[in-house]
Amino acid sequence: MAFDLAADLAARHEQHRYRHPLIQDGPCGRYAVVDGRQYLNFCSNDYLGLANDPAVITAFQEAAADWGVGSGASHLVCGHQRPHQQLEEALADHVGRERALLFSNGYMANMGVMTALLGKGDAVFHDRLNHASLLDGGLLSGARFRRFSHNDSSALRGQLQRSDARRKLVVTDGVFSMDGDVAPLADYATACEDNDAWLMVDDAHGLGVLDAQGRGSVFAQGVNKRVPVLMGTLGKGLGTAGAFVAGSHALIETLIQFARTYIYTTAMPAAVAAATLVSLSKAREEQWRREKLAALIQHFRLGAEQLGFSLMDSTTPIQPLLIGADQQALALSQQLREQGFLVIAIRPPTVPEGQARLRVTLSAAHEENDVDALLVALARCQRKDV
Ligand code: PMP
Repeated sequence: MAFDLAADLAARHEQHRYRHPLIQDGPCGRYAVVDGRQYLNFCSNDYLGLANDPAVITAFQEAAADWGVGSGASHLVCGHQRPHQQLEEALADHVGRERALLFSNGYMANMGVMTALLGKGDAVFHDRLNHASLLDGGLLSGARFRRFSHNDSSALRGQLQRSDARRKLVVTDGVFSMDGDVAPLADYATACEDNDAWLMVDDAHGLGVLDAQGRGSVFAQGVNKRVPVLMGTLGKGLGTAGAFVAGSHALIETLIQFARTYIYTTAMPAAVAAATLVSLSKAREEQWRREKLAALIQHFRLGAEQLGFSLMDSTTPIQPLLIGADQQALALSQQLREQGFLVIAIRPPTVPEGQARLRVTLSAAHEENDVDALLVALARCQRKDV
């Protein structure tokens, strides 16, 4: 049977890889509520605690009253309202670029950039652990597709030197979403400059979090001027939804003309843009959020290390505990759940085979005693007295 979906689903089950969404009965913040029970939540990407910030919520509500709930059309028809324009200008200013362009989400931003910039005869160079949206964008573009080992700038340099492609685009996550480590951007920038290539950084997990003003990975590593294409998402550190690409005037005009995921889709609601204007200024000004987060990260790492867990090479809020076997990671996640903690097990194909993990994420919405409680629960799992 060509469409034997039941067999495919059964196989997924047998591999212990079947997934389904948990219905959340409340906001996704410090806590999560599922099936009537409240959990301490260690799996959101709301790193700065802005998703439920009262001033951001008020901005959203007021803008919905002023501008409506839906934008009504795509940007190039009549969906581009004043808050979208203001947010694009504020984002460009925040990351020190001539222009920025909003997309409905990060997945579409990445697909849009790569399909607009690349085609047959070009080549895209990916870190092996790049986010799915970057990989998909590269495939859809029709460019030759190369992958280099994770964070390996000399492997990249070799591939660039051997390539005779017309345009060469090197693409990397700034902070890796499942590992929490950061890309060696200065080395990549040099390899690109030496080989007439462009560097694109997807800073979904760095924006708001890294650098003293939350300008992200490229500022934290002092390479902003050397990264022609910067992509950031709004649904993580900034606490709302959507994404943007920032760069030169010519880059943004190119995307407006040629990025199909910008052109052929409804603009995000203006209320989201208005709320993001507020969360962006809070992310920039409220340094205490990053300071608190850094202290929580340090505290968690020390405690987990003392318990003998395998931490990854991460100083960011993404602090996975490497477990290995899928079933073991799932069991640990379940044992934590029974104790009142929401921590998701991440399994292949999202991560490589044999590297299932608990993806613990920290947020400025947490308190130190939340982290202590998680560490106590992890210790109980280890002693198997749950
Ligand atoms: N890039 C990276 C590195 C991500 O982690 C994500 C989200 N998981 C995206 C892009 C996609 O962003 P969005 O959720 O806005 O589609």
